[in-house]
Amino acid sequence: MYILFDIGGTKMRIAASRNGSEILDSKIVPTPKDFWEGMQTIKKISYDLIKGEKIDSAAGGIAGPLNKEKTMLVNSPNLPGWVEKPLVGELEHILASSVYIENDTAMVGLGEAIHGAGAKYSIVAYVTVSTGVGGVRIVDEHIDRSAAGFEIGHHIINFSSEAKCPSCEAGGHLEAYVSGAALEGYFEKKPYEITDPSVWEETAKILAYGLNNVAVFWSPEIIVLGGAMIVGNPAIPMDRIKYYFEETCKIFAENPVIEKASLGDVGGLYGAMEYLRQNLI
Ligand SMILES: [Zn+2]
Repeated sequence: MYILFDIGGTKMRIAASRNGSEILDSKIVPTPKDFWEGMQTIKKISYDLIKGEKIDSAAGGIAGPLNKEKTMLVNSPNLPGWVEKPLVGELEHILASSVYIENDTAMVGLGEAIHGAGAKYSIVAYVTVSTGVGGVRIVDEHIDRSAAGFEIGHHIINFSSEAKCPSCEAGGHLEAYVSGAALEGYFEKKPYEITDPSVWEETAKILAYGLNNVAVFWSPEIIVLGGAMIVGNPAIPMDRIKYYFEETCKIFAENPVIEKASLGDVGGLYGAMEYLRQNLI
């Protein structure tokens, strides 16, 4: 049996797969703030899911950048209690199997590239706009190589701006304009409470500029957009994102298509399953 997990800032999902090609039961619980409590929660749910069978291996994503060896979080605004804790070492101990972790956005992107909106394409950019902004480049069904991961939310969209990035606090980053945390900061209400269409129009325009930058650097065939700010209600309108993108991105003979993510909340589990298959099965 294989254990798949997706550890987010507020919730975590844990699932089992018998053969690495299908997901059996899954369970969603709040992510404990305390790392050791988190480990005990994952242990209990995992052993409940496998019903007495042996765990062959486990893989999953976690919210934040990882160290080079991919064994622990080095930073995470949402999971400060998990930073620099021995995540892989402890999971290997409690699950008595090998364990692989990746950045959660990279896992969702891998799932979308193989089983979701990007399935027909070889070069996929996955961009998530949620509390923060993240992204990953997938090439031929693999997470593209990188020295330190992908952090498109922190590219500079306005160099003369004082707007502070909600997660890294530098000025003028894309995340300071289009993320849920940024909108909540400006308007002092939750993004889903913002009903003024002009706010969503402006957010679509700025996001399209950001996607222009993603397109010219990564040259994808498709940009898959996910995250609560894209799939929620209200959301940044897809048709306006596409409109402004076409107005902005004029250099290619053919622009990448832009599509909404299609796997919903389980993209990360599909990505983890593929990651295991590629590394192990
Ligand atoms: Zn930033």
